[in-house]
Amino acid sequence: MNLLEISELSVDYGVSGGTVRAVDHVSLFVQEGESVGIAGESGCGKTTVGLAVPLLLPRNATVSSGEIVLDGHSLVGRSEAEMNRLRWKSVAFVFQGAMNALNPVLRIDRQIREAITRHEPEVSKAAATTRVMEMFDFVGVSPTRAKSYPHEFSGGMRQRAMIAMALVCRPRLLIADEPTTALDVISQSQILALLNRLRRDQGLSLVMISHDLAAIKRVCDRVVVMYAGVVVEVGSSHEVLGTQGRRARAAHPYTQALIQAHPDLRGERTLSEGLRGHPPDLSTPLVGCRFADRCPKVMALCRTTPPPTTEISPGHLAACHLLSSGPS
Ligand code: ATP
Ligand code: SF4
Repeated sequence: MNLLEISELSVDYGVSGGTVRAVDHVSLFVQEGESVGIAGESGCGKTTVGLAVPLLLPRNATVSSGEIVLDGHSLVGRSEAEMNRLRWKSVAFVFQGAMNALNPVLRIDRQIREAITRHEPEVSKAAATTRVMEMFDFVGVSPTRAKSYPHEFSGGMRQRAMIAMALVCRPRLLIADEPTTALDVISQSQILALLNRLRRDQGLSLVMISHDLAAIKRVCDRVVVMYAGVVVEVGSSHEVLGTQGRRARAAHPYTQALIQAHPDLRGERTLSEGLRGHPPDLSTPLVGCRFADRCPKVMALCRTTPPPTTEISPGHLAACHLLSSGPS
């Protein structure tokens, strides 16, 4: 069963002199207990899709088309009061760089307890304190450290505290935006292990937004690859990104280039070619395939006609003229 279903979502940002269409008719779903990664270069619209779910978009953003259904509730157009009831209990969001967003003058246990009492006022202070301690234990921070101030925690511990805060009201879906960026490699690995444990032990559904394909491969069942505001490829992480011993079977030239730009430290040693050029300007009307200017396989058709989406194998889809049976 799908816990989250996003259909044909478009989001525009108002900027001086026009609008930026950050997300253009994006559709994706997350099943109960599933973990889905959203990958792509900076600026491709990953965060905007994530923020649209709990309706936490900035003021200059407009959802100009589409539907978001979470746990049977249609979300677009809901009032702030209605969304406040759903946030934290249905969906929680860990913001990019959130570990630096803890209030520096409040002890961490108090900040997490306040999240409970704000969203579940019926819970007594004693019960909230017990839950905070359990959460500390669960995310791997000793409850004896609960009364610390944020500056007394390392980056990895602050990220664990932020994850504890997001989970303390027991949401069904966690959206984590770049949860390992800015952490050292050991802390990165520990946070990814924690996310895997949350899924396994708590049945949590997860959307992980990340430019790090190795992190997505480790945590996510499926991957959604975005480029310049659109989805270009979807499939199981194993099939699209490969596993140890099985090569990646990414079908879209952009996903292939992304994989090439992320050398696998355990894999064969090849020179990464990187991705030349830049994504298109999203404030101008775009014609044809958005990747055409950077694509090594570009054809004349690509410059005039948007590519249709083709199913390569069950659940593995990509939008590229090379894959469609139409004119080429
Ligand atoms: P990053 O990883 O750098 O956050 P992203 O893939 O998450 O990138 P978004 O942050 O969703 O991408 O941005 C998508 C597009 O929308 C970009 O072109 C960005 O410049 C633009 N954008 C994002 N936020 C705003 C805003 N508040 N006002 C105007 N444009 C914005
Ligand atoms: Fe490249 Fe054309 Fe496929 Fe776009 S549609 S990815 S330009 S081959």
